[in-house]
Amino acid sequence: MLRERAGGAICAGMVKANAYGLGVRRVAPALWRAGCRHFFTANMDGAVMLRALLPKARSHVLNGLLEGGEDDMTANGVVPVLNDLGQIERWSAHARRLGRRLPATIHIDTGMSRLGLPPYEVDKLAERPELVEALEIGHVMSHLACADEVAHPMNAEQLRRFNALRAMLPGLPASLANSSGIFLGSDYHFDMVRPGYAIYGGNPTPGSSNPMNAVVTLRACIIQVREVGPGETVGYGAHFTAQQPTRVATIPVGYADGYLRSLSGRGSARIGEFEVPVIGRVSMDLVTLDVSRVPEDKANVGTWVELIWGSDMLDDLAARAGTIGYELLTALGGRYPRVYCGQEPS
Ligand SMILES: *Cc1c(COP(=O)(O)O)cnc(C)c1O
Repeated sequence: MLRERAGGAICAGMVKANAYGLGVRRVAPALWRAGCRHFFTANMDGAVMLRALLPKARSHVLNGLLEGGEDDMTANGVVPVLNDLGQIERWSAHARRLGRRLPATIHIDTGMSRLGLPPYEVDKLAERPELVEALEIGHVMSHLACADEVAHPMNAEQLRRFNALRAMLPGLPASLANSSGIFLGSDYHFDMVRPGYAIYGGNPTPGSSNPMNAVVTLRACIIQVREVGPGETVGYGAHFTAQQPTRVATIPVGYADGYLRSLSGRGSARIGEFEVPVIGRVSMDLVTLDVSRVPEDKANVGTWVELIWGSDMLDDLAARAGTIGYELLTALGGRYPRVYCGQEPS
């Protein structure tokens, strides 16, 4: 769907942070089966893992070429995202030493002020064509700061800067859009798009309904149910006081699993058609739910409770936690058994 939206541009897969917490071992082969050939990881560890999974994939390392990392990168067939002039010089020198052109992506900064060549370094690079000639530049890329806000003036401004800087390095394919950028229109698509969050079911168009299907479901099993009388409190800090007889169900999930403590008194879950609020503080290993509204035979020890479901809950829950769905996904704890639906990797 994203590839179609991007109108013929190559659709890369962002699999940094263990594929946004979902498990790169299963995610990357699934993306490969869907036709994805370019993958981006944050660091070398991610790239080495990816190479073991998909030897033919192009694996790009966003954090760039660290000092002394040249041999490691060529040995692992990795494509560095070159983030400053020094990195370009070193990679280019390495290519000359090896007597072959080495693949690379050049990252230019158009407003993130994080990674990438600042404009004055692009000027300098333009004056030294021999640096680029030693390399096989797959793409010149930049990254959008505000793509999730369609009307933000920063989008058009970054696009303008990107085109102006790109013109100084003529003839090179380009890449600008993350998930949300794909939905800003064809001016933002260029030759390759780099979605992450949308692949994993997050809403790339906040404020409008989610065009993506649900990808992640999070469930837990009730391990105890008790009746709490008026005036009794629930959890640490005695934060919740029952006003009336209340049925409290406890599930074995907590902030140690990435169910953020800021969801105390704010989160909610679902049992069948009933939405049940989180009451009291989220503990390290436990969350308490008010299941008073659920018929007794439908909320017992062993009953499954859904914590993330459908295509809206991820973003919704994140908003209630005061964060974004990206953080909820990447925080999904190592204790959760991950069950993957669909085809086994071949
Ligand atoms: C993480 C990242 C992306 C993907 O962003 P999403 O919002 O998850 O689609 C794209 N480009 C760069 C440089 C990134 O770091």
